[in-house]
Amino acid sequence: GWRSRAAFKLIELDDKFGLIRPGMRVVDLGAAPGGWAQVLVKRGAAKVVGVDLLPVDPVPGAEIIQGDFTDPDMGNTLTAMLGGKADLVVSDMAPNTTGHGPTDHIRIIGLTEEALHFAFEILAEGGGFVAKVFQGGSEKAMLDTLKQAFSLVRHAKPPASRKDSSELYVVATGFRPKRLPV
Ligand code: SAM
Repeated sequence: GWRSRAAFKLIELDDKFGLIRPGMRVVDLGAAPGGWAQVLVKRGAAKVVGVDLLPVDPVPGAEIIQGDFTDPDMGNTLTAMLGGKADLVVSDMAPNTTGHGPTDHIRIIGLTEEALHFAFEILAEGGGFVAKVFQGGSEKAMLDTLKQAFSLVRHAKPPASRKDSSELYVVATGFRPKRLPV
């Protein structure tokens, strides 16, 4: 069985957008308790590396370490674990909520922006980025950045995401690495 209700969200996003392809190399940010990693492996990802603040029981086929994604060295650590470029970076990270909507919104956007900058470093051309965000309106700058770097940027609220939560996912595909002008 799946370890988390969150697993169904990735299943639904993948069914809708065709994100996971056999042989793919994936980074899973905020991986505990391991549901998304299970889905990634089950759907044929060849290599899955991940990180979470919390320990994660081993997921066969994935390598998940305990740590803080925002640590300055974490990007290098994950890149070394993957051993090359990634085809997909997924982030289900959510900071602990304060209950104050605007504060929570700013915090998750900050975390998602960090995930995006990491994705810029590690993604192969054509790669994808999926991240949890919350409806709140201050994410326009991030959306503009996404639209410049990916050929297609969409939002989705998977059915498994509770209707009373403002959570939704940004799904960006077709990464275009920046090229020097010729
Ligand atoms: N996708 C996971 C699954 O299917 O099992 C569920 C992820 S859960 C909704 C969000 C996770 O983000 C939590 O386990 C939390 O510890 C993690 N998280 C939040 N901030 C983090 C950070 N700075 N570094 C690493 N993990 C973080």
